[in-house]
Amino acid sequence: MQSEALRNWLRNEQRLGIPLYPLPADEASRRLRALLGHSWSAPVAEAVATPQRSNGQGQPGAVPPPARISGGRTAGGSAGGRIGVVDDVDLPPLCTRELSVSEAAAALQSLDEGLVRGCRKCRLFEGRTQTVFGVGRVRPELVFVGEGPGADEDAQGEPFVGRAGQLLTRMIAAMSLTRDQVYICNVVKCRPPGNRTPEDDEMAACSPYLFRQLAILRPKVIVTLGRPASQTLLSTKTPIGKLRGVFHDFPPPELAAFGLPVAKLMPTFHPAYLLRNPPAKKEAWEDLQQVMGLLGLQTPPR
Ligand code: URA
Ligand code: SF4
Repeated sequence: MQSEALRNWLRNEQRLGIPLYPLPADEASRRLRALLGHSWSAPVAEAVATPQRSNGQGQPGAVPPPARISGGRTAGGSAGGRIGVVDDVDLPPLCTRELSVSEAAAALQSLDEGLVRGCRKCRLFEGRTQTVFGVGRVRPELVFVGEGPGADEDAQGEPFVGRAGQLLTRMIAAMSLTRDQVYICNVVKCRPPGNRTPEDDEMAACSPYLFRQLAILRPKVIVTLGRPASQTLLSTKTPIGKLRGVFHDFPPPELAAFGLPVAKLMPTFHPAYLLRNPPAKKEAWEDLQQVMGLLGLQTPPR
């Protein structure tokens, strides 16, 4: 049986019908607004110029009201404990073909500047200084997906630059790679207040952007860092301790209808957890060594 969100998604794809990637950000934004017949995101210039803090009633009409939050539609908890029912209304279809490097760069820029920067789909927009989209190679073999920006990331606009980020950079270096040889992003693009874990409805609202990123990037391997990213991309409530250490097929059956690119997915511990619990680094390193094996990277001699 199709979920309402999925039916909406499919209807949306039929309605839009044309690939919006790759297009320059302002052109994609203009076409989308024309196609959808209503303004679902703040114009780019306004979104960049106006830090969108606490919602208040100020400037009526300056920014469209937030779209409804998808919380009512998430299926967390019961029924097999699945998550990942996403609210995908009002977004363009996923990229369905391999893009060249320059096309992928343009497509990512279009997604970031045309859609994400002005996004108010969930309550997390209220506390952000800026959205944190992602960095790195645009057609990478390997993508790391974290949970959401913290204070440093919110301030700098780049994922994984704080203390956990520095550990991630060292983990990447241990794999004989550099940050700019991989792509790094998060499930939610806005900082949760006080660095709390993103709620299910916030991840459901934001994951359509992540799906579109992945459809452009088309990595061979996705490494999910910690519980929220692993559970979201595998559409499961299984604890991270049970998920990690083995490759999973991405997309999982629950997300099969969305046209996501095929990849191997390795869940591992989040670097922030490794900072709190250093003995778990041994298992995380074993997970990363498996990834190195799949990518044909030399593992260092023991
Ligand atoms: N933790 C995350 O999950 N992501 C970041 O970007 C930084 C810290
Ligand atoms: Fe939009 Fe994601 Fe930010 Fe929520 S977290 S406002 S869905 S960009």
